[in-house]
Amino acid sequence: MTEHAEPTLFERIAAREIPAQIVAETDRVIAFHDIAPKAPVHVVVTTKEQGGYRDVVELAAGDPALLAELVAVARGVADELADGDFRLVFNTGGNAGQTVFHVHAHVLAGGLEEGSLA
Ligand code: 5GP
Repeated sequence: MTEHAEPTLFERIAAREIPAQIVAETDRVIAFHDIAPKAPVHVVVTTKEQGGYRDVVELAAGDPALLAELVAVARGVADELADGDFRLVFNTGGNAGQTVFHVHAHVLAGGLEEGSLA
């Protein structure tokens, strides 16, 4: 776990302090549409806990069951909003494009360009 001085954007969305278009949730995971979609279906799947894991590497080491739950929610989102096929992207570190330092995955689906990674 990483302690945050201030809640991250996604912690604030999970706490319903900032609105988002929520598409799925479990007790510990929440999924909502990305505000700037980069694919026909672009959903962020993140964990609800406050002061939680910073990235997927920390989550995998600290709570693999929660990572599995996050992936299962991603699977359900792709089934619900697309044809079931999807990319699951975890930006890990600022130099890789991570801007919100609370673990999250991008579900990208629906008419993806063949060969494109983003
Ligand atoms: P990262 O770059 O950390 O992997 O992903 C952060 C994502 O959050 C970006 O894709 C960005 O478009 C999205 N985002 C930024 N601000 C908001 C917001 O206020 N609401 C929602 N739903 N998504 C946001």
